[in-house]
Amino acid sequence: MKILVINCGSSSLKYQLIDMNDESVIAKGLCERIGIAGSMLTHSPAGKGKVVIEKDMPNHQVAIELVMAALQDADHGVIKSTDEISAIGHRVLHGGMKFYKSIVVNEEVKEVIRECFDLGPLHNPANLMGIEACEAAMPGKPNVAVFDTAFGMNMPAKAYKYAIPEEYYEKYSIRRYGFHGTSHNFVSGEAIKFAGLDPENAKVIVCHLGNGASISASIGGKCVDTSMGLTPLEGLIMGTRSGDLDPAVLQFIMNKEGLDVNQMLNILNKKSGVLGMSGVSSDFRDVGKAADEGNERAAVALDAYFYRVIKYIGAYAAAMNGVDAIAFTAGVGENDKAGRKRICESLTYLGVEIDDEANDIRGEKRIISTPNSKVKVMLLPTNEELAIARDTLALVK
Ligand code: AMP
Repeated sequence: MKILVINCGSSSLKYQLIDMNDESVIAKGLCERIGIAGSMLTHSPAGKGKVVIEKDMPNHQVAIELVMAALQDADHGVIKSTDEISAIGHRVLHGGMKFYKSIVVNEEVKEVIRECFDLGPLHNPANLMGIEACEAAMPGKPNVAVFDTAFGMNMPAKAYKYAIPEEYYEKYSIRRYGFHGTSHNFVSGEAIKFAGLDPENAKVIVCHLGNGASISASIGGKCVDTSMGLTPLEGLIMGTRSGDLDPAVLQFIMNKEGLDVNQMLNILNKKSGVLGMSGVSSDFRDVGKAADEGNERAAVALDAYFYRVIKYIGAYAAAMNGVDAIAFTAGVGENDKAGRKRICESLTYLGVEIDDEANDIRGEKRIISTPNSKVKVMLLPTNEELAIARDTLALVK
């Protein structure tokens, strides 16, 4: 059984065709600059060189048609016809208050995705375009929506409610949703399996440390808290996002600089985080290099970044009254061994003991704590596409 996984952004479309018999990737690719001059498709069939196809893609519909043609091409194709594709799994950013899990798309589901446009203004319209493009290109084929917010929907009210007048929750569904849910769900599940923990009761903290960063606490695979909120802006310091801050900071800067709220939010989303603090880059490798070369601002940015991760781990261990496993994932989590060591060295009070030799690794599933460590610490590469494909398969089988 082959599942096509689609992740649409406003001007991009990423895809993977996965053979669910062995969960191998048969082909993957990326359409860039959809709706903008100079659009192109980079198609990578497994075991063959990648092909770049430069063609006009005025919308997602045309992009999907090009993807389908590339998948069936005589030279670089991997299937003979679309009949070989059993279903399509779509990453959808926001499911609002309606969706606690993935679901087969019908008109009602599309309507809810549409209702959530104001909660996910950049992503939800693109996600819906991707679904409708697939419906048109492959009529009758099941499409499954996998929501990035679904994992966080299991949080208890004490974790998801903001301490603001209840009417805003009732009128506008203002609450904490959490994002990167597909990754947190996948990694926490894999961590339980990999470390041989009790699937019903294991207390797991997942640190998804990439350009966007978030952290979650779950018991038996069910989310009890997660750091992103109504939008991905809350929580950890990120590449360009501020994470947690006193809301009065906004009013102060807006008054002083004469900014409107959109300009202010743009600064908090795109110009803050380690980029804004260091003035160097949003890429952690550049900031680390600058800090090593004596750049004080870069050093403070990284200190603040890791300090916030350490604080959240402490808070989540407290929220769960213990922790059995901590899993690191995403760009920084999977590649930055010094960063993982730095975090773990502040967790000795939890009984965390890192094994330097085991930690000397990148992008590979591995336990990086010593056998004596009270908490199993591990590196667990995330795989959101596979998680989407698995959910899709489970719903259409
Ligand atoms: P992601 O959003 O998961 O793709 O992660 C991207 C981030 O991972 C970028 O900011 C990279 O700088 C960071 N990253 C990748 N490799 C390393 C590394 N060896 N050390 C520190 N950060 C890294």
